[in-house]
Amino acid sequence: MDYENVIEQVLAVTAPHVGEGAVPDYIPGLASVDPRQFAISVATVDGREFHGGDHAVPFAIESISKVFALALVLARKNTGIWKRVRREPSGMPFNDLIELELERGLPRNPYINPGAIVVADQLLADTGDGLAALRELLRAETGNPALEVDSVIAESELGAGDRNRAMGYLMASFGNMRCRVDEALDHYFRQCSFTLTCAELARAGLLVARHGVRADGSRLLDPEPARHITALMATCGTYDAAGEFAYEVGLPCKSGVGGGILAVVPEVCSVAVWGPGLDAKGNSVTGGIALREFATASKLSVF
Ligand code: GLU
Repeated sequence: MDYENVIEQVLAVTAPHVGEGAVPDYIPGLASVDPRQFAISVATVDGREFHGGDHAVPFAIESISKVFALALVLARKNTGIWKRVRREPSGMPFNDLIELELERGLPRNPYINPGAIVVADQLLADTGDGLAALRELLRAETGNPALEVDSVIAESELGAGDRNRAMGYLMASFGNMRCRVDEALDHYFRQCSFTLTCAELARAGLLVARHGVRADGSRLLDPEPARHITALMATCGTYDAAGEFAYEVGLPCKSGVGGGILAVVPEVCSVAVWGPGLDAKGNSVTGGIALREFATASKLSVF
Protein backbone atom coordinates (compact mmCIF):
# COMPACT_ATOMS: atom_id res chain seq x y z
CA MET A 1 0.00 0.00 0.00
CA ASP A 2 1.35 3.40 -1.02
CA TYR A 3 0.04 5.34 1.98
CA GLU A 4 1.88 8.52 0.96
CA ASN A 5 0.00 8.57 -2.32
CA VAL A 6 -3.30 7.81 -0.57
CA ILE A 7 -2.74 10.73 1.82
CA GLU A 8 -1.95 13.05 -1.10
CA GLN A 9 -5.24 12.07 -2.71
CA VAL A 10 -7.09 12.61 0.56
CA LEU A 11 -5.54 16.07 0.97
CA ALA A 12 -6.43 17.04 -2.62
CA VAL A 13 -10.06 15.94 -2.29
CA THR A 14 -10.50 17.48 1.17
CA ALA A 15 -8.76 20.83 0.54
CA PRO A 16 -11.76 22.61 -1.09
CA HIS A 17 -13.88 21.74 1.95
CA VAL A 18 -11.51 22.89 4.72
CA GLY A 19 -13.35 25.36 6.95
CA GLU A 20 -16.78 23.89 6.21
CA GLY A 21 -19.13 22.90 9.02
CA ALA A 22 -19.72 24.57 12.36
CA VAL A 23 -17.66 24.36 15.53
CA PRO A 24 -19.87 23.34 18.48
CA ASP A 25 -21.20 26.41 20.23
CA TYR A 26 -22.42 24.58 23.35
CA ILE A 27 -18.85 24.07 24.64
CA PRO A 28 -17.09 27.48 24.64
CA GLY A 29 -13.61 25.87 24.68
CA LEU A 30 -14.40 24.23 21.32
CA ALA A 31 -16.28 27.19 19.84
CA SER A 32 -13.04 29.20 19.72
CA VAL A 33 -11.08 26.64 17.63
CA ASP A 34 -10.13 27.84 14.12
CA PRO A 35 -12.17 25.66 11.71
CA ARG A 36 -9.68 26.16 8.86
CA GLN A 37 -7.49 23.27 9.95
CA PHE A 38 -7.29 19.71 8.72
CA ALA A 39 -5.08 16.72 9.50
CA ILE A 40 -4.76 13.05 8.67
CA SER A 41 -2.42 10.49 10.21
CA VAL A 42 -2.07 6.79 9.47
CA ALA A 43 -0.26 4.40 11.81
CA THR A 44 0.26 0.84 10.60
CA VAL A 45 0.40 -2.25 12.79
CA ASP A 46 3.91 -2.88 11.43
CA GLY A 47 5.12 0.42 12.89
CA ARG A 48 5.05 2.92 10.01
CA GLU A 49 3.42 6.35 10.17
CA PHE A 50 2.22 8.74 7.49
CA HIS A 51 0.87 12.24 8.02
CA GLY A 52 -0.71 15.16 6.19
CA GLY A 53 -1.87 18.66 7.13
CA ASP A 54 -2.02 19.93 10.73
CA HIS A 55 -1.12 16.60 12.28
CA ALA A 56 0.94 18.12 15.10
CA VAL A 57 -1.84 20.36 16.45
CA PRO A 58 -3.52 19.01 19.62
CA PHE A 59 -7.31 18.93 19.79
CA ALA A 60 -9.86 17.64 22.32
CA ILE A 61 -10.70 14.04 21.56
CA GLU A 62 -14.14 14.36 23.20
CA SER A 63 -16.21 11.27 22.42
CA ILE A 64 -13.27 9.35 20.97
CA SER A 65 -12.20 8.94 24.61
CA LYS A 66 -15.22 6.63 24.96
CA VAL A 67 -13.37 3.91 23.04
CA PHE A 68 -10.39 3.95 25.41
CA ALA A 69 -12.52 4.18 28.56
CA LEU A 70 -14.52 1.17 27.37
CA ALA A 71 -11.28 -0.69 26.66
CA LEU A 72 -10.17 -0.14 30.27
CA VAL A 73 -13.50 -1.37 31.63
CA LEU A 74 -13.53 -4.44 29.38
CA ALA A 75 -9.94 -5.21 30.37
CA ARG A 76 -11.40 -6.24 33.74
CA LYS A 77 -13.42 -9.42 33.80
CA ASN A 78 -16.95 -9.80 35.19
CA THR A 79 -17.67 -6.12 35.72
CA GLY A 80 -21.30 -6.61 34.70
CA ILE A 81 -21.04 -3.59 32.39
CA TRP A 82 -23.28 -5.18 29.74
CA LYS A 83 -26.11 -5.29 32.27
CA ARG A 84 -25.79 -1.51 32.54
CA VAL A 85 -25.51 -0.53 28.88
CA ARG A 86 -26.79 -2.11 25.67
CA ARG A 87 -25.13 -2.59 22.29
CA GLU A 88 -27.65 -1.22 19.83
CA PRO A 89 -27.43 1.94 17.70
CA SER A 90 -29.63 4.67 19.07
CA GLY A 91 -30.86 6.61 16.05
CA MET A 92 -31.20 9.59 18.38
CA PRO A 93 -28.70 12.41 19.02
CA PHE A 94 -25.83 11.50 21.36
CA ASN A 95 -27.22 13.65 24.18
CA ASP A 96 -30.87 12.68 23.87
CA LEU A 97 -32.86 12.24 27.08
CA ILE A 98 -36.18 10.94 25.76
CA GLU A 99 -34.95 7.49 24.76
CA LEU A 100 -33.16 7.17 28.10
CA GLU A 101 -36.38 7.88 29.99
CA LEU A 102 -38.44 5.53 27.82
CA GLU A 103 -35.85 2.78 28.25
CA ARG A 104 -35.67 3.20 32.02
CA GLY A 105 -32.16 4.53 32.35
CA LEU A 106 -30.49 1.78 30.30
CA PRO A 107 -28.43 3.51 27.58
CA ARG A 108 -28.50 2.07 24.08
CA ASN A 109 -24.71 1.81 23.70
CA PRO A 110 -21.44 2.93 25.31
CA TYR A 111 -20.63 5.50 22.59
CA ILE A 112 -23.56 7.87 23.20
CA ASN A 113 -23.27 10.17 26.19
CA PRO A 114 -25.40 8.25 28.74
CA GLY A 115 -23.62 5.00 27.86
CA ALA A 116 -20.25 6.69 28.21
CA ILE A 117 -21.28 8.16 31.56
CA VAL A 118 -22.13 4.64 32.77
CA VAL A 119 -18.73 3.42 31.52
CA ALA A 120 -17.00 6.35 33.25
CA ASP A 121 -18.91 5.53 36.45
CA GLN A 122 -17.85 1.88 36.19
CA LEU A 123 -14.21 2.81 35.57
CA LEU A 124 -14.25 5.16 38.53
CA ALA A 125 -15.88 2.54 40.78
CA ASP A 126 -13.42 -0.17 39.65
CA THR A 127 -10.20 1.84 39.81
CA GLY A 128 -10.82 4.65 42.31
CA ASP A 129 -9.14 7.00 39.81
CA GLY A 130 -10.42 6.34 36.33
CA LEU A 131 -8.86 9.47 34.91
CA ALA A 132 -5.39 8.39 36.02
CA ALA A 133 -5.95 4.98 34.43
CA LEU A 134 -7.00 6.61 31.17
CA ARG A 135 -4.11 9.08 31.26
CA GLU A 136 -1.63 6.25 31.79
CA LEU A 137 -3.11 4.28 28.89
CA LEU A 138 -3.14 7.23 26.48
CA ARG A 139 0.37 8.30 27.45
CA ALA A 140 1.73 4.81 26.91
CA GLU A 141 -0.08 4.21 23.61
CA THR A 142 0.78 7.61 22.11
CA GLY A 143 4.34 7.67 23.46
CA ASN A 144 3.71 11.17 24.83
CA PRO A 145 4.48 11.26 28.59
CA ALA A 146 3.19 14.84 28.83
CA LEU A 147 -0.27 14.11 27.42
CA GLU A 148 -2.87 15.84 29.60
CA VAL A 149 -6.43 17.01 30.04
CA ASP A 150 -6.82 20.57 28.71
CA SER A 151 -8.04 22.37 31.82
CA VAL A 152 -9.67 25.23 29.88
CA ILE A 153 -11.76 22.81 27.83
CA ALA A 154 -12.54 20.73 30.92
CA GLU A 155 -13.81 23.80 32.79
CA SER A 156 -15.84 24.72 29.76
CA GLU A 157 -17.37 21.21 29.65
CA LEU A 158 -18.15 21.39 33.37
CA GLY A 159 -19.81 24.77 32.88
CA ALA A 160 -21.90 23.59 29.94
CA GLY A 161 -22.71 20.08 31.11
CA ASP A 162 -26.28 20.28 32.38
CA ARG A 163 -27.71 17.86 29.79
CA ASN A 164 -25.06 15.32 30.72
CA ARG A 165 -25.81 15.86 34.41
CA ALA A 166 -29.50 15.35 33.65
CA MET A 167 -28.62 11.98 32.06
CA GLY A 168 -26.53 11.01 35.07
CA TYR A 169 -29.29 11.81 37.58
CA LEU A 170 -31.93 10.15 35.39
CA MET A 171 -29.85 6.97 35.29
CA ALA A 172 -29.26 7.22 39.06
CA SER A 173 -33.04 7.41 39.55
CA PHE A 174 -33.27 4.04 37.79
CA GLY A 175 -30.45 2.61 39.93
CA ASN A 176 -27.89 2.62 37.12
CA MET A 177 -25.09 4.64 38.75
CA ARG A 178 -22.53 3.27 41.22
CA CYS A 179 -20.61 6.41 42.17
CA ARG A 180 -21.91 9.83 43.07
CA VAL A 181 -23.30 11.39 39.90
CA ASP A 182 -21.20 14.56 40.23
CA GLU A 183 -18.01 12.49 40.63
CA ALA A 184 -18.76 10.30 37.60
CA LEU A 185 -19.65 13.37 35.55
CA ASP A 186 -16.48 15.15 36.62
CA HIS A 187 -14.49 12.16 35.33
CA TYR A 188 -16.54 12.08 32.10
CA PHE A 189 -16.02 15.79 31.34
CA ARG A 190 -12.28 15.50 31.95
CA GLN A 191 -11.84 12.37 29.84
CA CYS A 192 -13.46 14.25 26.94
CA SER A 193 -10.90 17.03 27.39
CA PHE A 194 -7.71 15.05 26.78
CA THR A 195 -5.94 16.75 23.88
CA LEU A 196 -4.04 14.65 21.36
CA THR A 197 -2.56 15.44 17.98
CA CYS A 198 -3.80 13.52 14.97
CA ALA A 199 -0.50 11.66 14.91
CA GLU A 200 -0.94 10.64 18.56
CA LEU A 201 -4.54 9.59 18.04
CA ALA A 202 -3.61 7.33 15.13
CA ARG A 203 -0.91 5.74 17.30
CA ALA A 204 -3.34 5.21 20.18
CA GLY A 205 -5.87 3.71 17.75
CA LEU A 206 -3.47 0.87 17.06
CA LEU A 207 -4.62 -0.61 20.37
CA VAL A 208 -7.95 -1.27 18.63
CA ALA A 209 -6.43 -2.20 15.25
CA ARG A 210 -4.21 -4.78 17.01
CA HIS A 211 -7.25 -6.26 18.79
CA GLY A 212 -6.24 -5.17 22.26
CA VAL A 213 -2.44 -5.47 22.10
CA ARG A 214 -0.63 -2.47 23.57
CA ALA A 215 2.30 -0.54 22.08
CA ASP A 216 4.73 -2.43 24.34
CA GLY A 217 3.43 -5.79 23.03
CA SER A 218 1.50 -6.71 26.18
CA ARG A 219 -2.19 -7.53 25.92
CA LEU A 220 -4.73 -5.15 27.49
CA LEU A 221 -7.79 -6.95 26.18
CA ASP A 222 -8.62 -10.46 25.15
CA PRO A 223 -9.40 -10.69 21.42
CA GLU A 224 -13.12 -11.09 22.05
CA PRO A 225 -13.78 -7.85 24.00
CA ALA A 226 -11.40 -6.10 21.60
CA ARG A 227 -13.61 -7.23 18.74
CA HIS A 228 -16.65 -5.91 20.61
CA ILE A 229 -15.10 -2.44 20.88
CA THR A 230 -14.50 -2.40 17.12
CA ALA A 231 -17.96 -3.73 16.26
CA LEU A 232 -19.56 -0.99 18.33
CA MET A 233 -17.47 1.62 16.49
CA ALA A 234 -18.95 0.35 13.22
CA THR A 235 -22.56 0.32 14.45
CA CYS A 236 -22.62 3.19 16.96
CA GLY A 237 -19.42 5.23 16.58
CA THR A 238 -20.55 8.17 14.48
CA TYR A 239 -23.71 9.29 16.29
CA ASP A 240 -26.90 8.83 14.31
CA ALA A 241 -24.95 8.73 11.04
CA ALA A 242 -23.36 5.30 11.59
CA GLY A 243 -25.37 3.81 8.73
CA GLU A 244 -24.19 6.55 6.39
CA PHE A 245 -20.58 6.06 7.54
CA ALA A 246 -20.79 2.30 6.93
CA TYR A 247 -22.16 3.05 3.46
CA GLU A 248 -19.70 5.81 2.53
CA VAL A 249 -16.54 4.83 4.42
CA GLY A 250 -16.94 1.22 5.45
CA LEU A 251 -14.55 1.29 8.39
CA PRO A 252 -15.25 1.12 12.13
CA CYS A 253 -15.04 4.77 13.27
CA LYS A 254 -15.49 6.85 16.41
CA SER A 255 -15.98 10.57 16.15
CA GLY A 256 -15.93 13.40 18.67
CA VAL A 257 -17.34 16.91 18.68
CA GLY A 258 -13.77 18.25 18.80
CA GLY A 259 -13.71 17.34 15.07
CA GLY A 260 -11.62 14.19 15.31
CA ILE A 261 -12.56 10.81 13.87
CA LEU A 262 -10.62 7.63 14.59
CA ALA A 263 -11.01 4.81 12.06
CA VAL A 264 -9.45 1.38 12.23
CA VAL A 265 -8.67 -1.27 9.67
CA PRO A 266 -8.32 -4.36 11.89
CA GLU A 267 -4.84 -5.91 11.74
CA VAL A 268 -3.72 -3.29 9.19
CA CYS A 269 -3.75 0.30 10.43
CA SER A 270 -5.37 3.07 12.38
CA VAL A 271 -6.38 6.35 10.70
CA ALA A 272 -7.04 9.61 12.54
CA VAL A 273 -8.53 12.64 10.82
CA TRP A 274 -9.31 16.04 12.25
CA GLY A 275 -11.28 19.03 11.01
CA PRO A 276 -13.08 21.15 13.64
CA GLY A 277 -16.19 22.03 11.57
CA LEU A 278 -19.07 19.60 12.26
CA ASP A 279 -22.17 18.60 10.32
CA ALA A 280 -25.66 18.59 11.84
CA LYS A 281 -25.12 15.15 13.42
CA GLY A 282 -21.87 16.16 15.11
CA ASN A 283 -19.35 14.51 12.78
CA SER A 284 -16.43 16.42 11.26
CA VAL A 285 -17.31 17.49 7.70
CA THR A 286 -13.77 17.25 6.35
CA GLY A 287 -13.10 14.18 8.48
CA GLY A 288 -15.97 12.36 6.76
CA ILE A 289 -14.84 13.42 3.29
CA ALA A 290 -11.27 12.42 4.07
CA LEU A 291 -12.19 8.98 5.36
CA ARG A 292 -14.40 8.28 2.37
CA GLU A 293 -11.51 9.18 0.08
CA PHE A 294 -9.07 7.16 2.20
CA ALA A 295 -11.30 4.06 1.96
CA THR A 296 -11.78 4.52 -1.80
CA ALA A 297 -8.13 5.18 -2.60
CA SER A 298 -6.75 2.47 -0.31
CA LYS A 299 -9.52 -0.09 -1.04
CA LEU A 300 -9.36 -0.90 2.69
CA SER A 301 -13.09 -0.70 3.40
CA VAL A 302 -14.05 -3.78 5.42
CA PHE A 303 -17.24 -4.21 3.40
N1 GLU B 1 -18.10 16.35 25.87
C1 GLU B 1 -19.07 16.21 24.84
C2 GLU B 1 -20.45 16.12 25.43
O1 GLU B 1 -20.59 15.42 26.38
C3 GLU B 1 -18.74 15.01 24.06
C4 GLU B 1 -19.72 14.77 22.96
C5 GLU B 1 -19.12 14.10 21.78
O2 GLU B 1 -17.96 14.29 21.42
O3 GLU B 1 -19.88 13.36 21.17
O4 GLU B 1 -21.38 16.72 24.99
